Amino acid sequence: VTDSLWCYRCDETYPRSAGARCDCGEPLWFDVDPTYDPARHADESGLGRYRDLLPVDELRGLTSAAGGTPLIRTDRLDDVAGCRIWVKDEGEHPTGSFKDRGSAVGVADVLARGRTAVGTVSHGNMAMSVAAHAAAAGLDCAVLVPADIPPERLAIIGQYDPEIIRVDGDYGRLYEVSIRIGERLDIDFLNSDVPLRVAGQKTTTLEVVDAFRPDAPDAIVMPVSSGGHASGAWKALRDLRACGALPSTPKLCFVQAAACDPVATAFRDGTETVSPVTGGETIAYSIANADPPSGARALAAARDTDGAVVSVDDDEIREARTRLARGAGLCVETASATTLAGARRLAAAGVLAPDDRVVLVATGSGFKESTATADAAAPSVPLAGLDATLAARFA
Ligand SMILES: [Zn+2]
Repeated sequence: VTDSLWCYRCDETYPRSAGARCDCGEPLWFDVDPTYDPARHADESGLGRYRDLLPVDELRGLTSAAGGTPLIRTDRLDDVAGCRIWVKDEGEHPTGSFKDRGSAVGVADVLARGRTAVGTVSHGNMAMSVAAHAAAAGLDCAVLVPADIPPERLAIIGQYDPEIIRVDGDYGRLYEVSIRIGERLDIDFLNSDVPLRVAGQKTTTLEVVDAFRPDAPDAIVMPVSSGGHASGAWKALRDLRACGALPSTPKLCFVQAAACDPVATAFRDGTETVSPVTGGETIAYSIANADPPSGARALAAARDTDGAVVSVDDDEIREARTRLARGAGLCVETASATTLAGARRLAAAGVLAPDDRVVLVATGSGFKESTATADAAAPSVPLAGLDATLAARFA
């Protein structure tokens, strides 16, 4: 357990009271003690297994339910992608997404410090996750959503009874503004790339690496939006490397939707920083972040690990979502399907080899999205005709 923050770019260390950002403007990470031994808490479930690399010690109640998601060998997707595919199914979390990892660490820390209120800026998975964890812990919770949020999503968030506030204005600016207001009002905003949340989100990659020991996978592919999860993946690899516990470095590959791909654009252009874009519409709306707060860190993560950042269009995403359902039995969030489409592109470009062991991080469940289309060709038969119908189809 550690209590200081560190900037990857300047190598500066700060006390945790310094907040979320370095003086250089980059987000900070929690520092760790480089004496971690993967075998030490290996018999524990969930995030408790990684307590030596996390800023919290005590995980109980709902916070003990995060992590430990299945890693599934999906060999029927190998031909689709052009490499050997495993899927890390983050949709198995209590609120159906990887966000529960960060919310668990955030809420556990808030409880440990005796504070009473959390908040977040989100109209999707993170809002549901923070609201659920706050409800379970008996904390007050503020969820700031855009004024035009669809009613069905408001209903899912609302069931946990947080204080939902629709905010009219520049939703992008709200990210920083909320953290400043929270500091004044004693509300801990667990936004997408704050150090506590990123610490929790390291554990996706820690679990993936542990599952392949004594080796490591050749690549990990994940969607990138704010860059919080991507930077968590990089930090996980760096922590393991610092502790002598990383067998080899998997390539970190990130995927964006082509309609809104500031990180992929910066990667292609060879720049060190990510410039905001004017994002267009995409079916992968939950990763359409036009000005990602951890974009530069995601970019550095891809380059440091010999990985890549690519973008895929909506047709490729739709096709990948169908393949994940029909070839692997997985109902993933549309944004998560970008990983299969991205792996396919990376294999075609030679970044991934046919023998490579590649893990797609399916960040969220598709069961919260009403994207399924009814099979219009499904026959309707009287009970008496069932025998003949099945015989005609399966004989
Ligand atoms: Zn810095």
